Amino acid sequence: MTFEDDLQDSVRTIPDYPKPGVMFRDITTLLGDARAFRRAVDQLVHPWAGSKIDKVAGIEARGFILGGAVAHQVSAGFVPIRKKGKLPHQTVRMAYALEYGTDEMEMHVDAIARGERVILVDDLIATGGTAEGAVKLLRQIGADVVAACFIIDLPDLGGAAKLRAMDVPVRTLMAFE
Ligand code: 5GP
Repeated sequence: MTFEDDLQDSVRTIPDYPKPGVMFRDITTLLGDARAFRRAVDQLVHPWAGSKIDKVAGIEARGFILGGAVAHQVSAGFVPIRKKGKLPHQTVRMAYALEYGTDEMEMHVDAIARGERVILVDDLIATGGTAEGAVKLLRQIGADVVAACFIIDLPDLGGAAKLRAMDVPVRTLMAFE
């Protein structure tokens, strides 16, 4: 059994959630497995071992769980990117594409200094609409987006390719069709 199969087996698939026809990839089973959680975090940051990372930005909500662990691992600070209206201090805002329509995400205006090296983290990339919004938000305040890391890639939906076209190196640990 390969590393990828092993880790992939710790992800649970829920058919027809949150609506009929969707295969939801549930990472709570991976997070709850101590060995899988550690391996996932170690592997996510592996290419940047030894390089200076100032901040890890996590996308609400599962990106907070992974992003906190990743930040600890690379000795960086953690920055939450949240749905609008949730952060208490002054924010910068960016619209992003949902399956139907758009929404907005926010980050504190002083969370990242111009030129700081940032890794973006979320659990899964599908169409890439969410991550694309986050990269634009980070770049808007002058962050240097060093990479975007996800446990799961759904390559058929093109999100990772979209980020690479924006000159963002993308790291994913497994793919589902
Ligand atoms: P995208 O914007 O790339 O189309 O969708 C990615 C966002 O939706 C991520 O924030 C991710 O957490 C969430 N998401 C979409 N589908 C799934 C899924 O099957 N499993 C999980 N865990 N998250 C999903």
